[in-house]
Amino acid sequence: MNILIVGGGGREHALAWKCAQSPRVDHVFVAPGNAGTALEPNISNVDIPADDSGALLEFAENEDIGLTIVGPEGPLVAGIVDRFTAASRPCFGPTRAAARLEGSKAFTKEFLKRYRIPTASYATFTAADFDADYVRAQRLPLVVKADGLAAGKGVVICESHESAIATATAMLGGSFGAAGNTVVVEEFLRGEEVSFIVVAHDQQVIPLATSQDHKRRDDGDRGPNTGGMGAYSPAPVVTPALHERIMREVIEPTLRGLRSDGNPYTGFLYAGLMIAADGTPNVLEFNCRLGDPETQPILMRLKSDLVDLCEAAVDGALDRTQPVWDSRAALGVVMAAGGYPDGFRKGDTIDGLEAAARLPGKVFHAGTRLEASRVVTAGGRVLCAVGLGDTVGAAQRQAYAMVDAIHWDLVQYRRDIGYRAIARESPGRTT
Ligand code: AMP
Repeated sequence: MNILIVGGGGREHALAWKCAQSPRVDHVFVAPGNAGTALEPNISNVDIPADDSGALLEFAENEDIGLTIVGPEGPLVAGIVDRFTAASRPCFGPTRAAARLEGSKAFTKEFLKRYRIPTASYATFTAADFDADYVRAQRLPLVVKADGLAAGKGVVICESHESAIATATAMLGGSFGAAGNTVVVEEFLRGEEVSFIVVAHDQQVIPLATSQDHKRRDDGDRGPNTGGMGAYSPAPVVTPALHERIMREVIEPTLRGLRSDGNPYTGFLYAGLMIAADGTPNVLEFNCRLGDPETQPILMRLKSDLVDLCEAAVDGALDRTQPVWDSRAALGVVMAAGGYPDGFRKGDTIDGLEAAARLPGKVFHAGTRLEASRVVTAGGRVLCAVGLGDTVGAAQRQAYAMVDAIHWDLVQYRRDIGYRAIARESPGRTT
């Protein structure tokens, strides 16, 4: 069968690479893909933007695509799955109505409250009903969020009431476009941040291998927030007891609630959680798709067939499916362009990819482009080098051996991805 992957980042390179390993797959197409997907055997890029669901459906019909897997949230929130399903083309992901869990933070907060799923207390406002006095009455810090999709930039932690009011006012005034027509003002939660990803079909649910990412740009988890500078799997912070609580208190009631509301969920569901001191898994956000860069180390550890897993979800057969995971750890280091996450350069030639490809592990591409036969930078996050090892420490060494072989002008990356997990691996501790 032929597979279509929608998107062009590191997550989509990993999805395409993993699907191409399936004995059931003839060819994998990626729309629009990147230089990494262009160079893989049995994978080709298709020049269709990820948000053009009409052209994607036409392509899927012409190429007899047996399964489409959607990487990014934009097309899911816009309803690509509904469009494919109406044309009887299997497409893995949530419907537009179910994808509101990511598409609208105000919707999600109301949903969480209604189903008594733990989350920060909050209020929502539009320009017409914004109440500065409410904001002034709240404890600091405060978290101000644009309701809609804002490419990971719509969350601002405010240390003063005046900055919270100014941030909300700017969002309501259009600084994030329509995404800021409604804002959520919420309580700041303390604790340890954990991400938890499952694959679901209505009430059937399979948790994926655990993972943890590093959001800050600089070593020691300092500097500006980014889309993610690295990730590893498994995440020892998710103990079996915590795993059980997250399933019981967050994932299962969420899937039940969506069903009761008439919007059953199919797809990857990613819960961003803040674990309180008493172990309560508070929901910070939901994503209606896999995370990037968590996908890269997670899929490095998936030994069974990804196409089987996604197809089982589309067909409602997850209760008869059990993914098999490599017991080794995987760790991915993101290599970013100089200046990221602000303004960054594009078009720099990347050296050393062939040397890195001869090393153990795998380099996934994100913001890269082929220019003649050269691979050049084309985005903020450029590559993610993923190593495997018996420990997170060993996986880290393998990943950095690849990173050390690669270079371009002003490349930047962290040197300490996985440091918390590695500290937990000190002698005498089990992970
Ligand atoms: P979100 O997109 O809602 O996950 O927010 C992005 C990041 O902001 C999260 O990964 C957290 O680090 C932080 N954040 C969001 N909401 C809160 C909150 N209520 N309390 C503390 N930190 C938060």
